[in-house]
Amino acid sequence: MEHCILKVALDTPLDFCFDYLWSLEPGAPRPLRGQLVLVPFGRREVMGLIVAVHDETDVPLDKLKSAIAVRAQLAPLSAEWIALCEFAADYYQRPLGEVAIPGLPKNLRLLKTTSLDKAIKKLAKVDAIHDATPFAMPQLNQAQQAAADTIATASGFAPTLLYGVTGSGKTEVYLQAAAQILAHSKEDDNPAQILILVPEINLTPQLEANVRARFPGVMIATLHSGLAEGERMTHWLAAHLGQARIILGTRLAILSSLPHLKLIIVDEEHDPSYKQQEGLRYSARDLAVWRAHQLSIPIVLGSATPSLETWHHAQSGRYRKLELRERAVKDAVLPKVGLIDLERKAPREQMIEGVSATLIAALKLRMERGEQSLLFLNRRGYAPVIACDSCGWISNCTRCSAFLVLHKLDKRLRCHHCGFEQRIPKSCPTCGNVDLQPLGRGTQRVEESLQQIFPEARIMRIDADSTRRKGSAQEAFDTVHRGEVDILIGTQMVAKGHDFQNLTLVGVLNPDTALFSHDYRASERLFAQLMQVAGRAGRAAQKEGGSASEVLIQTRYPQHPLYAAVRSHDYDTFATELLEERQQANFPPFIYQALLRAEAKEIKIALDFLHEAIACVDYPGITMNDPIPMTMTRVANVDRAQLLVECTSRPALQAFLKVWIATLRQMKTRVRWSLEVDPVDI
Ligand code: ADP
Ligand code: ZN
Ligand code: ZN
Repeated sequence: MEHCILKVALDTPLDFCFDYLWSLEPGAPRPLRGQLVLVPFGRREVMGLIVAVHDETDVPLDKLKSAIAVRAQLAPLSAEWIALCEFAADYYQRPLGEVAIPGLPKNLRLLKTTSLDKAIKKLAKVDAIHDATPFAMPQLNQAQQAAADTIATASGFAPTLLYGVTGSGKTEVYLQAAAQILAHSKEDDNPAQILILVPEINLTPQLEANVRARFPGVMIATLHSGLAEGERMTHWLAAHLGQARIILGTRLAILSSLPHLKLIIVDEEHDPSYKQQEGLRYSARDLAVWRAHQLSIPIVLGSATPSLETWHHAQSGRYRKLELRERAVKDAVLPKVGLIDLERKAPREQMIEGVSATLIAALKLRMERGEQSLLFLNRRGYAPVIACDSCGWISNCTRCSAFLVLHKLDKRLRCHHCGFEQRIPKSCPTCGNVDLQPLGRGTQRVEESLQQIFPEARIMRIDADSTRRKGSAQEAFDTVHRGEVDILIGTQMVAKGHDFQNLTLVGVLNPDTALFSHDYRASERLFAQLMQVAGRAGRAAQKEGGSASEVLIQTRYPQHPLYAAVRSHDYDTFATELLEERQQANFPPFIYQALLRAEAKEIKIALDFLHEAIACVDYPGITMNDPIPMTMTRVANVDRAQLLVECTSRPALQAFLKVWIATLRQMKTRVRWSLEVDPVDI
């Protein structure tokens, strides 16, 4: 019998492809690049991607294992998709299989060949399950229409920043542009596919409902980490087979197979969630731009507070900038932003449990008028730490350089870094004092205080703790949208994207810490966060007898220029100044960075490894900074250190990383190390 050799990419840390033998029945077709294949690997059977089919190999035939089954029923993954994975693997310095395989539905691996057809048949259901009442597109205003037309009629690679204030109707622009492109492609044999990325799973339902209502009869697939395996398989297949025309998803959707992709939209493109923070540390936004470039299609990056990287490209003309300066709903205006000075000497601001009298009065007014308020505090739990007044003991995590956070409702102390938890001690572990005090405030404590201040108020807290159960976040947001909540308290989960109709007040409780962070990106992030959360207020027109929309920020530093920029909703000036600072200080986007991290039992071992890593290569044009312990040095009994590498040229940095990583892979060490290209938290 004839045979051939399959070169297969597998999800392993080993940076090469594996050869397998494949026997060809007489007359049977040869396997193809892009097909999936089941192979033996160690004691397991795993799924791999065929990257090449050869007649021969250097490995002696009797040393080769045979592949088990080729998934010939499934259309091969396209050359475009493989190129995307190859690019990501190359750019982020990871093996191809680690990029390509984890994004594929697990069920593709498990399925026996026969049942694959049955999967495929189920597809028709993806659409049928969700029948929505059709909903007319609103008449776009001039700026929206111009933006939608520009996007839809663009030809070739056309990266566009849709820079529109919160509530300016960016979503409508996306949907209209999508509608035009879909309508246009109807005559084609290959109807267009449109990928819409959102930063957060909790934003998909609202958008999904919107999209379904606008596009009755169009198959829509959703891809995010909240799907059950079966659903994931169905939706992935719908996209892969080109049947789903609109694909909504979080960052992982950028690696999905989309054979007829004609437009990519990245909503809230500045959002940190587009960056994967473990394993393959990719930026979905950056990959989206690369994918659009490769396919020569338009891409829209939408935001009221673009990332400085994107802003820089827009300023330099590399990206086209389309602007929406006004809120779309008639008479809806951006909220007035006020600062509550917590340091003012006279008349001193009265505080009740961390909430100022001014803010309480504003909340009371909203309650009386039947309007909603939102309190934003980016810290979950009851209090970030508990302490003993008499001996100075504080609740440190024994495994991390972090505090144990008090979770009063479940009576636990919990480490948010390693997951360690214990019961709240009845008395101080060192001196026996029974009066342990919570220090500082988290969302649970604010909820408790507000319930005391406003016993009759319907208060809802939304954070990672309150929404652990699948579907609970959605239920919570629905309750808010139905108007059954007076005061919403939440972390950044509530600050993004949501279109609350009856919300006229936003209070921000404790934003100051970010002003003095060691991380040069902290002020960019804080500014975006404040603008975004402020943007939740006043999205509908002011009602007669209703309140004007308002944002109140409690701060000890009311003179800080960042707050001045927030007050005047002036992203332009703020961004321009930040960019100038970055240029002077030689920070991205003016230079390119990579971060080598090392983990060991002791910090010295990690640091020694990084010093060795510096010594093992000599490369011109590369700046190696001193290895330092990470800010959060110890997590789960492991010490962590980092080494920042910088270069003024991206290609030069890439060339260096290739050589360097290859050398590091040869190095014998027990230190666990990993590389991050374009790091964001340093
Ligand atoms: P953004 O994403 O820019 O913050 P949205 O797309 O959520 O804004 O739109 C804000 C609100 O304005 C939504 O309630 C939306 O239905 C409404 N809206 C958008 N465009 C129009 C329009 N042309 N006419 C009337 N209302 C609109
Ligand atoms: Zn004590
Ligand atoms: Zn810990």
